[in-house]
Amino acid sequence: MATATAPLGIYLAVPFCRSKCSFCNFASQVYAPGIYAEYAALLAREIALTAAATGSGGCDRRRVDTIYWGGGTPSLLPPPALAAILGVLGEHFQFEPDCEHTMEVAPGTLTPELLDLLPRLTPPVNRVSLGVQSFQDEETRAVGRLHRRSTVVDDIARLRAAGIANFNLDLIAGLPHQTPASWRESLGLALEQEPPHLSVYMLEVDDDSRLGHELLAGGVRYHAHHVPDDEAIADAYELAWERLAAAGRPGYEISNFAQPGAESRHNLKYWTRRPYLGFGVDAHSLVDAPLPARYANPDTLAAFSEPLRQGRLPRGAAAPVSARAAAEEFLFLGLRLARGLDREAIAAAAAPVPGYAEWLEPRFQAQLAAGLLEEHEGRIVLTPRGRLLSNRVFAEFLA
Ligand code: SF4
Repeated sequence: MATATAPLGIYLAVPFCRSKCSFCNFASQVYAPGIYAEYAALLAREIALTAAATGSGGCDRRRVDTIYWGGGTPSLLPPPALAAILGVLGEHFQFEPDCEHTMEVAPGTLTPELLDLLPRLTPPVNRVSLGVQSFQDEETRAVGRLHRRSTVVDDIARLRAAGIANFNLDLIAGLPHQTPASWRESLGLALEQEPPHLSVYMLEVDDDSRLGHELLAGGVRYHAHHVPDDEAIADAYELAWERLAAAGRPGYEISNFAQPGAESRHNLKYWTRRPYLGFGVDAHSLVDAPLPARYANPDTLAAFSEPLRQGRLPRGAAAPVSARAAAEEFLFLGLRLARGLDREAIAAAAAPVPGYAEWLEPRFQAQLAAGLLEEHEGRIVLTPRGRLLSNRVFAEFLA
């Protein structure tokens, strides 16, 4: 964990979408646009109340070197509301001159007004993450996305023309109707856009999305019967690792690929346990003062909004991170990174927990023997198979 003077990351959650994608398990919904302005005002209030609260992680003009707008679709907020929220942040924090400022943008929501504003905000938005998911219109249509391939190409050209050349493209391996050939073509079309950064996720199958629920039930709604099988999804993910590395964008984290130097500084904070404050629905925070602690906001708009309307923060006290939890987080977050963890750092992380290092070693050995981890020059990393089964690997290190 970094010291109390480490610069903070700020996460701003906007839980609104134009339509709900069938695969999405995030805390986002479709709301009438009339609600956007009030939400922006509540977000600003949450920032001010957090800054005023003692023991909140020490806002107090603390330096901020990354800001990330996620959700949801933050690009739906009215541009003046975006500027107002940043204005309140600026009253309580100091933005570093090279602050990485990312906004997630749904293709097709980049209005001329928004595009004009992004580079003029304080601090300027200098990185955009486009929720592309696929360059195949049949696949995006099947999951309820409103954009087409041409929308994405057009948005990227407009971002570049506006001076925002640092962008990420999100892709999903395993969408309905995806085939090995269509996936290969999607990767090729993505690379034609020369993105500095890509994120590739495997379709998550759980009860929290409509498509996942349908797949688990064995039904055919949401094109569930056109979802590739597990082996095909794993092959697609593996192909992405090979293809993107060959194109100069090696994977640096289980789902993230970048040209050297274009890695997401904000997301690296999550995996290296640097402090960050999250504002908005379902936003999470890791504070480092006075002690390491985590807290999370409610994951529904109503539960988030009501306390704030009454002038109260929408959450209880932060929960201290125990030494054991800190050591476990260090392991399962650090192993997500392609560089893995070195033995000395693992020993240092385990040291505060009596007996943990001894408890851990046979588990490492079992994962090494199973071919899910490998060790090179004192560093432990996931193997390609370990990346596919990462949750199983990480579960081994949890009490
Ligand atoms: S995937 Fe993104 S755009 Fe689609 S519903 Fe979820 S948050 Fe909204």
